[in-house]
Amino acid sequence: METSILSVCYLIGSVCFIIGLKMLSHPETARRGNQVSATGMGISILGTLLLYRTDNGQHLHNYGWIAGSLVIGAVVGTRAARRVKMTAMPELVSIFNGMGGLCAALISTLEFGRLAGGETVLHLLIILAGALIGSISFAGSMIAYGKLSGKMKDLTFPGQQVTNLVVPALILLLSVGLLCGISVTPAILFYILLALSLCYGVLFVLPIGGADMPVVISLLNSLTGVATAFGGFLYNNQVMLTGGILVGSACAILTLLMCKAMNRSLKNVLIGSFGGTKAAALPGTQGTYKEVSISDAAMVLGYAHKVMIVPGYGLAVAQAQHTCHELEKLLSDKGVEVKYAIHPVAGRMPGHMNVLLAEANVSYDDLLETEQSNEQFPTTDVVLILGANDVVNPAAENDPSSPIYGMPILEVGKAKMVIVNKRSMRPGYAGIDNQLFFQPNTSMLFGDAKGVLQQLINQIKAL
Ligand code: NDP
Repeated sequence: METSILSVCYLIGSVCFIIGLKMLSHPETARRGNQVSATGMGISILGTLLLYRTDNGQHLHNYGWIAGSLVIGAVVGTRAARRVKMTAMPELVSIFNGMGGLCAALISTLEFGRLAGGETVLHLLIILAGALIGSISFAGSMIAYGKLSGKMKDLTFPGQQVTNLVVPALILLLSVGLLCGISVTPAILFYILLALSLCYGVLFVLPIGGADMPVVISLLNSLTGVATAFGGFLYNNQVMLTGGILVGSACAILTLLMCKAMNRSLKNVLIGSFGGTKAAALPGTQGTYKEVSISDAAMVLGYAHKVMIVPGYGLAVAQAQHTCHELEKLLSDKGVEVKYAIHPVAGRMPGHMNVLLAEANVSYDDLLETEQSNEQFPTTDVVLILGANDVVNPAAENDPSSPIYGMPILEVGKAKMVIVNKRSMRPGYAGIDNQLFFQPNTSMLFGDAKGVLQQLINQIKAL
């Protein structure tokens, strides 16, 4: 009876994960989707704690340890999630993902230690896969965290690409050896494999350029999902299996979609160096740029028919989303048509701009995707760029030598006038200069996004 109720709990958990995931695909339902998935997870955990019986019919007995871990995990997780700034979200995702990978690797290591001999090759394969994939994901996520938080730099060394091929080949070879029982000391071989996997996790993320980190994190998330699914196989636990498969497949799809958004192959992301630390050309080496004053900018915005706002990472840093929405409402009240052009990799995490603007209650109907925006730019009077840089860089279209060449961008240059707000002529995340700033229809409006937006609002009110 208890086992049947537990199966129902797992079924409810799995269904909640699927519904929650579906709801996450739209900003309007995403918050509730998260809650639905968390409820499913809660039901599954509670069911396991109260109803799970071991092979010899015993209930779980180590409740003290479990409760202690749950409390510590819940307190640390809640505090971290509450405190994290939206711009630091990818770092948090890396750490959480790393912990998932570590967990899967530890479970498999524990189960390897409990092998009594005589298990099937499939059983050993499941344990090994969980341990190795979990270790790669853990080590890779920690390096990704270090790089995203600026604590680590990209690192390349001679022969890196060869090393990155040799290490996984060695892991594969030794794994086959372990599975075929070639080794006389399987435990030592297992730990050597674990160490190699940790090394590979570090080695494969180290050289990847900063701007490619979202793709890498999504790939690592997918690996953690797969490692968890192996854990589900191991314990014949349906909810762990469903959860792992959902994370594994959803993140694999996200990885490919992000590659598509940047018009690059996954292979190119993994062995290329887009977004790596590069010396940017010195300001001024590309020509001269012109500036616009606050009052002139307010004038052209206030008397325009159609304005497109392009938000970027700088808007998020300045926490200027509310002020931006205020400007948008002010212009709309004056009869100006205002829309937002949203690039999929603007900011520092997928969907960053959607989340940011949703926080300020900007209507979803006013958010246009890249393709829709590009259709609208030729009929736009003024494009107001707020702290965006790479996502509007024409080098992606016209400079084959540029590391971002091929990435679809917002073609803002097609509008009658472009006003770029940022604090200086410094490059964006990819570390490359932007020819847009030197084009005849572009004017720079220097300053912190929040301050500049507030001044624009004051000036437009006085028009
Ligand atoms: P960028 O990083 O290219 O540019 C942001 C610009 O904002 C900078 O040039 C900076 O210039 C300006 N800025 C910074 N602070 C402020 C401020 N307070 N007020 C006004 N401006 C400010 O941002 P984009 O959004 O255009 O592009 C995102 C980049 O990040 C892409 O390269 C993408 O690949 C990468 N990335 C994306 C992730 C994602 O999933 N979305 C995750 C990780 C990286 P200045 O210093 O002169 O003010």
